[in-house]
Amino acid sequence: MHTFEFERATDSSAAVATAAQAKTAQQGADVRFVAGGTTLLDLMKLNVETPERVIDINRLPLDSIEATPDDGLKIGATVRNSDLANHPTVKRDYAVLSQAILSGASAQLRNMATTAGNLVQRTRCVYFRDTAMPCNKREPGTGCPAITGANRMLAILGTSEHCIATNPSDMCVAMAALEATIHVQGPNGARAIPIGDFHLLPGSTPDRETVLEPGDLITHVTLPPPVAGSRQVYLKLRDRASYEFALASAAVVLTVADGKVTRARIALGGVGTKPWRSREAEAALVGQPINQTSLRNAAEAALRDAKPQSENAFKIELAKRCLTHALQIATA
Ligand SMILES: Cc1cc2nc3c(=O)[nH]c(=O)nc-3n(C[C@H](O)[C@H](O)[C@H](O)COP(=O)(O)OP(=O)(O)OC[C@H]3O[C@@H](n4cnc5c(N)ncnc54)[C@H](O)[C@@H]3O)c2cc1C
Ligand code: SF4
Repeated sequence: MHTFEFERATDSSAAVATAAQAKTAQQGADVRFVAGGTTLLDLMKLNVETPERVIDINRLPLDSIEATPDDGLKIGATVRNSDLANHPTVKRDYAVLSQAILSGASAQLRNMATTAGNLVQRTRCVYFRDTAMPCNKREPGTGCPAITGANRMLAILGTSEHCIATNPSDMCVAMAALEATIHVQGPNGARAIPIGDFHLLPGSTPDRETVLEPGDLITHVTLPPPVAGSRQVYLKLRDRASYEFALASAAVVLTVADGKVTRARIALGGVGTKPWRSREAEAALVGQPINQTSLRNAAEAALRDAKPQSENAFKIELAKRCLTHALQIATA
């Protein structure tokens, strides 16, 4: 691993000011915050990330979970994934989030991993993680070997001719269905970003993954008040039962009355270049009577624009079945 300066932040404004000196907050950033380190240190050992300065944010007071004045939930940036998943309010009112987090990684990793780190975790594309290979995300302009290479795990929604990498997060898929908001303290003040606007499609700049700018520190995430009577399910399909990323996953938050779906929030994981909210599936489902045809129609709508690669066409049917089954569980 290359050498770098390490410092512990005790004041968020000072940490933001230091990080604001970075040339970018994206791939190639020369200053990085570190929280749990389960993504960043991995990538530094592989020389995929080579920051000159690393700022440890674990001593900042960002590790609490609190109710908001409007009865929503405020989740601090350094709240550990295990603490979030097991928090009584999350288990009761935001069950889809608890389920999603507990389906990811391992208990040890979840004890270290944080809310903000999970939001900014990087793709598991094998070429991205191998500096001997070209990769547009790691080194813009070098090409995308995944398009003609090993792409079984990669995306079928939101891809471009420059990158087809999957966003690997489970937590973010649940947060997309819950319509979370990400709060950032930057060099020019604070701002709030709806999760749907936080991650970027790869387009011609796959090295840019989020809207974060140099110095931007994620301070917390808020969830809107829970929807009374909502039924929530996270279903994750993968090659083995634990310690594995999703081939396809679905987060659903539904409200049902008189045998019909009255409100639906649906997001997919394992198939998109970003956590994939499917407004198409939601529109196909709301107002419909609950039966096998309407649930499957929603899944068809979600995958209508899917573009398979050489090794992952199977994901289209897999994702449809995943979503259909998640909807069946939620409406049973
Ligand atoms: C073996 C393995 C298996 C895994 N399996 C899964 C899985 O099945 N599902 C899943 O969802 N995830 C999985 N993960 C990923 C894991 O969830 C992430 O590594 C973790 O959530 C990252 O959190 P962290 O706090 O460790 O981040 P760090 O490594 O500390 O940071 C990650 C990135 O976030 C940035 N960052 C951190 N905090 C802030 C902040 N406050 N503001 C701005 N930027 C910040 C850092 O600069 C860095 O770029 C797995 C990881 C490993 C190693
Ligand atoms: S899919 Fe994206 S991350 Fe993977 S090799 Fe292509 S450009 Fe790199």
